[in-house]
Amino acid sequence: MNNIAYLSMGSNLGNRLEYLHNAVRILDQDENIEIVRLSSIYETEPVGFTNQGNFLNLVMKIKTSYSAQELLEKCLNTEKVIGRKRGIRWGPRTIDLDILLYNQDNIETDSLSVPHPRIQERAFVIIPLLEIEPNITIPKMKDPLYTILNGIPDKEGVRLWKRKNGEDAFELFGN
Ligand code: AMP
Repeated sequence: MNNIAYLSMGSNLGNRLEYLHNAVRILDQDENIEIVRLSSIYETEPVGFTNQGNFLNLVMKIKTSYSAQELLEKCLNTEKVIGRKRGIRWGPRTIDLDILLYNQDNIETDSLSVPHPRIQERAFVIIPLLEIEPNITIPKMKDPLYTILNGIPDKEGVRLWKRKNGEDAFELFGN
């Protein structure tokens, strides 16, 4: 498993913690994925379409033998299994999985943009990402992530919801 990737997850419908837990479990059970680290869970006020419930968000670091495209398919399939109902873009969702980074690769295809193009606008991605990888560098980004975070107006809408204390990926979920 030679590739390092960072994924973000969010849920704002139903039992949000359970959806995150299920997504982490599905990824953990895949023999081509090894979970290296999970962030704490953050509660986030919705951005964009604001007439919806608060999200729970986390970021994870994985090792994987999947290509970026295969990893995307795994993410989309996990969303499907967990039962995301695709409705309004930016709208409520049981689970949303995004690839933030895949090694230090720049990928631009019809189905995939990596690094994820909206990292820089999203405090709910940057805050947990910096928690697990304070010195992370993002290809093509000239400012450090901390500087970018300082410039985001709605970062106060991202609050620690459940703190991660140990290394066990499932500690956050109570088993
Ligand atoms: P959304 O549900 O709004 O997050 O959009 C999902 C779609 O975005 C997927 O079907 C992907 O083809 C596309 N996509 C492009 N770049 C990425 C990425 N880095 N991570 C996840 N999905 C991506």
